[in-house]
Amino acid sequence: MSSLARDIKAQIEAKGPMRFDDFMRVALFDPKAGYYTQNPVFGAAGDFITAPEISQMFGEMIGLAFAQYWQDIGAPETLCLSELGPGRGVMMVDILRTLGRIPRFLKSANIVLIEKSPLRQAEQANALDGFEITWANDPSEWPQTPLFCVANEFFDALPLRQFKRTQTAWRERHVGLVGGMLNTYWQPSKGHADLEARMGDTQEGDIVEVCDDARKITAQIGDHISTHGGLALIIDYGDWHSLGDTVQAVHRHRTSQIFENIGQSDITAHVDFEAIAHSAGCAFTRLCPQGVFLERLGITTRAQKLAQNLEGDALEEHIAAHRRLTHPDEMGALFKVLALYQEGQPVPVGLQDD
Ligand code: SAH
Repeated sequence: MSSLARDIKAQIEAKGPMRFDDFMRVALFDPKAGYYTQNPVFGAAGDFITAPEISQMFGEMIGLAFAQYWQDIGAPETLCLSELGPGRGVMMVDILRTLGRIPRFLKSANIVLIEKSPLRQAEQANALDGFEITWANDPSEWPQTPLFCVANEFFDALPLRQFKRTQTAWRERHVGLVGGMLNTYWQPSKGHADLEARMGDTQEGDIVEVCDDARKITAQIGDHISTHGGLALIIDYGDWHSLGDTVQAVHRHRTSQIFENIGQSDITAHVDFEAIAHSAGCAFTRLCPQGVFLERLGITTRAQKLAQNLEGDALEEHIAAHRRLTHPDEMGALFKVLALYQEGQPVPVGLQDD
């Protein structure tokens, strides 16, 4: 048993069962042994590979979307370029390289990263050596200027609560001890303000997930955009309307039991884009599959251009990476893109309705 599992057990013995979001917060962010506070978690050597780690083309397309939107809203002279949860900083490197073709954009930009883990911050500083970067705790610390922000696989890592419906009320998932072992069970609950609206579209036994952190952060992003303008691109796996238990743990590229490798496995859940869009309070686009978004931004043309300099295994890998990012059987349909923007401003490129 990991030291973190022992700590959690001791805490439950002393204080009683823990809400699931509190468990997830400790498992992912305990300062000494939490998953994201440790090393390494990303890439082939870690536990999972994210889109920016698959190919440079992903970050390049985000850079292009920012460049286009900057022009669409009249090329503001100061702006905040931000990423939420940048991991190893790989995507921001690709975004900045792409934006390098528009020196006026880069000259106007304050780069602000929002990252909770000190170890990840150190990796990001290393990857972005040569750029002037600052870190912020949350969006309320952004400079008061138009925003160009991206969050890839950030919202899926935020701790969430789970509720199970009875005939007339809700029970909440808790982590406790059953026969001395960590286990989850459902306890009577006062519910949550969001659940009232869900009585209409759920039945007894249905599970609904609620992520308060996601709501809080998107409300901050939305406030910023409503006041200062700009664009936030939110990319993650999930859907418009959440229903069911979507929590999963991944350890070394394999699905794992939630309590098996606490502190060594990633715990995530599907993102409820509807909740995000509605808490932002600014304009939002329709939800778009990642593959469609990348195609509209020209990823295939870019892939062909890069392929000209490749051969053998490198070429095969490049073709596979393009497929992995865009094909509906791979990440192309599971992952979705939602943009937040200012009411009355143009709809961001790649996300217009057909
Ligand atoms: N965007 C990266 C990494 C995704 S993993 C990629 O696509 O590769 C999630 C990242 O979000 C990690 O860097 C994690 O440390 C960070 N993170 C999670 N919750 C956070 C929070 N509440 N505040 C700041 N950073 C957070």
